[in-house]
Amino acid sequence: MEWLTIGAFARACRLTPKALRLYDELELLRPARVDAVTGYRYYSPDQLEQARLVAWLRRLGMPLARIRAVCGLAPEAAAVEIRAYWARVEAETAVRRDLAAFLVQELTAAPREDTTVLELRYCAHSDPGRVRPANQDTAHAGARLLAVADGYGPAGAPASSAAVAALRFLDSAELPAGNVLDLLADAVHGASEAVRDVAAGTDENGTTLTALLWTGSRLALVHIGDSRAYVLRGGDLFRITHDHTVVQSLVDEGRLTPEEAVTHPRRALLLKALTTGTPDLGLHDAEPGDRYLLCSDGLSAVVPDPAIRTLLTAAPTPDTAVHALVDAANTAGGPDNVSCVVADVVEGTA
Ligand code: MN
Repeated sequence: MEWLTIGAFARACRLTPKALRLYDELELLRPARVDAVTGYRYYSPDQLEQARLVAWLRRLGMPLARIRAVCGLAPEAAAVEIRAYWARVEAETAVRRDLAAFLVQELTAAPREDTTVLELRYCAHSDPGRVRPANQDTAHAGARLLAVADGYGPAGAPASSAAVAALRFLDSAELPAGNVLDLLADAVHGASEAVRDVAAGTDENGTTLTALLWTGSRLALVHIGDSRAYVLRGGDLFRITHDHTVVQSLVDEGRLTPEEAVTHPRRALLLKALTTGTPDLGLHDAEPGDRYLLCSDGLSAVVPDPAIRTLLTAAPTPDTAVHALVDAANTAGGPDNVSCVVADVVEGTA
């Protein structure tokens, strides 16, 4: 075996000896031999490829523990891990990008030139479904606040109702002073505390929360868990939330296809919920004619998006829409509690 000194090895893989000593200390790349007397590090030419891979993964920003894991894998498995890591980075960046856009909008709130007054027409309905003994969902619709919460655990019903009750003050005629982002973040913090109070100190109990707050021209969104928000605009249905489920994260990471996710036995397993994670925040400019839908997974798990679009399009009013959607979930077996909130953006009479 022909040993390379640390200097020669560093030149060969275009790293610095300092970087190689660091990788050794971090156990990312141990020298093939360390001289017992001098302490000099020696490398084998076989290690060049691994050294270059470590350097590339460092440049990618991958955490050290993850690099260690990747380096222990065969090339094909390592490729899967790198793809999964990058998918996660992109998902997290997307949430930060939305937050940045939200802040920019908040800080540059130019007066609207269009003086049309917009209002919401809304309806909420929650149904236990055909199988569950109790309803642990809570749905609410008011002039400013639309919300759906899906509780789980033995205290699921009080958890979802506490979350929505803690947001109800936002439904008053006048929004408290301050920007809508701070307002929502504080309200959600309050909702999370309220859920903790009824959850008896165990993660077994909790709730999802998906809510929209009407500001007169825009809708601020807060979302955590697997309830969903959609908007029907110009005949097309757009989903504006991302499910925080383990199965969705596997899809994001390319480990599962969307088709496999639909029938996955653990598809309801949440990645985070109100008391266990940070919610997504967003802001949507409303247009007259928009129809918003909030729903629990009792709808979306059994009624596919194209059917939701058809029912939403056909219903003349929010009231008929929520009942048509709940009926569709029950016709499909009603395996879970189902909650729907529909709100239309209309030109006001004021
Ligand atoms: Mn549910």
